[in-house]
Amino acid sequence: MIERTLALIKPDAVARGLVGELLAQMQGSGLRLAALKMIRLSKAQAETFYAVHRDRPFFESLTRYMSSGPIVCAILEGEDAIRRYRDLMGATNPKEAAEGTLRRRYGVSLEANAVHGSDAPETAVFEISFLFSGLESGGERL
Ligand code: UDP
Ligand code: MG
Repeated sequence: MIERTLALIKPDAVARGLVGELLAQMQGSGLRLAALKMIRLSKAQAETFYAVHRDRPFFESLTRYMSSGPIVCAILEGEDAIRRYRDLMGATNPKEAAEGTLRRRYGVSLEANAVHGSDAPETAVFEISFLFSGLESGGERL
């Protein structure tokens, strides 16, 4: 089934000049880039985006980090896109991520792990609609 997933390049990776390299690897994996932009989230917007983690001990630090600088938001599209992009990213903790994955290669810590990807179809719908307007995400015309 053709799916859409939300990919983010997190603030630490944008700050380290890794945008071009990370986008090249996303596209190199065969996923289609259906939408793309750079924004900076407010603390409150980061809290809404990560609301499922609201009760976790890392929530405060995570949302501070995610609002600390610009992020790049992309919609990736393709067969089984959600799982394929999760596989490309690797495990949440860069130290546990498999060799060759984005988090293993570019992540610096459990929190600053370079990239985000939706984890399920419902999550992808929520995340895409939170970050992209209908006009921006109408990528079938691109
Ligand atoms: N995170 C953290 N400490 C933890 C677990 C997660 O700082 O113990 C951060 C990390 O940046 C992660 C994000 O919170 O990417 C969301 O966590 P989740 O469990 O959803 O991992 P993901 O889906 O990003 O692999
Ligand atoms: Mg997650």
